[in-house]
Amino acid sequence: MLRIPQSYIDELLEGDWALHDVTTEGMGLKGEYVVTAWPKETGIVAGIEIAERVFKTVGLRTEMLYGDGDHAFMHSPILRAWGTPEQLHATYKVAQCVMEYSTGIARRTHEMVSIARDRWGRIQVAGTRKHFPGGKILSIAALRAGGGIIHRAGISDSILVFDQHRTLTRNPVHAVRRLMAMEPERKVCVEVDTPEDGMFWADKGVHIIQCERFTPEVLAAFVREVKAKHPHVVVNAAGGINGDNVGDYADTRCDVLVTSIRLSPAVESLVKALGKLPGYGPRSAQRAAFHLLQNRDESLDELAAAVERVRRGVGRCRLCNTFTEGDICPVCLDEERDPGLLCVVESTADQMALDASLAWPGYYFVLSGRLSPVNGIGPADIGMPLLLKRVGAGVEEGVLREVVVAMSYTPEGDATAYYLIDALKKRWPQLRVTRLARGLPAGIEIEYTDLSTIANAVYARRDA
Ligand SMILES: [Zn+2]
Repeated sequence: MLRIPQSYIDELLEGDWALHDVTTEGMGLKGEYVVTAWPKETGIVAGIEIAERVFKTVGLRTEMLYGDGDHAFMHSPILRAWGTPEQLHATYKVAQCVMEYSTGIARRTHEMVSIARDRWGRIQVAGTRKHFPGGKILSIAALRAGGGIIHRAGISDSILVFDQHRTLTRNPVHAVRRLMAMEPERKVCVEVDTPEDGMFWADKGVHIIQCERFTPEVLAAFVREVKAKHPHVVVNAAGGINGDNVGDYADTRCDVLVTSIRLSPAVESLVKALGKLPGYGPRSAQRAAFHLLQNRDESLDELAAAVERVRRGVGRCRLCNTFTEGDICPVCLDEERDPGLLCVVESTADQMALDASLAWPGYYFVLSGRLSPVNGIGPADIGMPLLLKRVGAGVEEGVLREVVVAMSYTPEGDATAYYLIDALKKRWPQLRVTRLARGLPAGIEIEYTDLSTIANAVYARRDA
């Protein structure tokens, strides 16, 4: 039996149920109802014990019809819970997610165990501590339900000497011998990259050799050789073992196949994609992904539809390069604007801010960011050629009088502005080229304004 701390159950509930269920309480729903959980497909089920704990935590009565690791048929009830609408609504989504993820992990594990055991009956499939952050207990419970064993739940429960440990000492053999003397009751495992290294440590008396990223052929030869010399040595295979190659690794007749506990390749790719967005780290990407999955109807479908609509329908305006549905954006189609004035901005967000000020009577051109030679972003990357074409056309028609370079006053913004002003003046010396003024901010007293802003306000002073 795996101990599942109450704090973990509370944490699961916390994500969905912070204060009260506004809808159910507001509608005044009363009485006793039942929810029934069943698997969508036939096979091993998991996460039932955690889901039951979630239900019980809010006082629901429960009946477990199957246990973790049992085989259940599609649509056969596996767990029931009785209670008030509030109790049920506060918990069923969390319980459902727990069972879905757990069942996914358990089934992938079970599939690997079955393939491996078919090839070598004595082999074990072990999950490493590379489980998804915050998902350790759920992963381990599901791994066990699928017939896997725990490779290393934490750094306190087994001794594993990595290369990173050995490079930190001038005498690794001495250090490993010291470790074995310090912990005589425990087995010592050393991870190695080559068969020669593996044999070296087996000769030194370590108990487990963990072979990192050996090919099945190299591993098979090593297992034969090391077991002939040291019959009691345990050989682990680790690194890159998955459902596709697990049979080949089992054929090597090593003792343990170490794999990562995969949540779900689809969810992992979502987390990875979200992690590339500005302001998102791995942890926040994970939280966002789980939020989307937990609130499928409201959040996930809405986001998917919005992303798809943007992907299909939104492109760049042919005239100003801003984002728009259709060929030309509404701003460029607005005939009330002064065609003699063009304002160049860094982004659509800047364009929107300037336009919201209602101060600009002309048209815009939206660059795709700023020049940044350090990051390899040059004039063509930000749409400079299209801008020059647009300005050229305006000058030739004899309508364009002034271009305002509305870049931010940051080092990259300045560099972009200087480049652009230079390019425009060289080509069209008669064209008026200006930059937005730097001056005193509204609503702030002079004594609280920073010195560079004050200085620029002095230089840019004008007749009153
Ligand atoms: Zn436009």
